[in-house]
Amino acid sequence: MATINSVLGPLDTADIGFTIMHEHLVVASTGITQNYPELLVANFMDRIAGGLTRAKEGGVDTVVDATTFDLGRDVNVLARASSLSGVNIIACTGWWLDVIRFLDGVSADQFAELFIREIRDGASGADIKAVILKAASDVAGVNSGGGNRAAWSGSSPP
Ligand SMILES: [Zn+2]
Repeated sequence: MATINSVLGPLDTADIGFTIMHEHLVVASTGITQNYPELLVANFMDRIAGGLTRAKEGGVDTVVDATTFDLGRDVNVLARASSLSGVNIIACTGWWLDVIRFLDGVSADQFAELFIREIRDGASGADIKAVILKAASDVAGVNSGGGNRAAWSGSSPP
């Protein structure tokens, strides 16, 4: 049996069903869902679960959530949404465009270790494994311009 890691654990690939390949169930600044959930829309979990439940009724079995840490990914929110709706959710690691300034100077190897850990062991201290690795950049590329430039060039931030 081939499996893929969903946010609720290994899933038989024969059970993936109809899959939406790129969604964002919650997008916020890093840490908002954990620290200031009242800043999100009221009853955000009810809205997420409700939307997923309607999607399930329409034939969606699995959603790939392409939200990275810099877009506020919270794997525990994804797991709760999956439990409430019955929709399988596949989590993502990697980065989008807004790598926080705190991480300027982090090397590509350090980022690689973090991303591999999230795929191998789990993310955010939870046993919830990422599957997809997202690597986004803007028109300037990853070595010049943008918040992640120092990380990938190995230089210190100005
Ligand atoms: Zn996206």
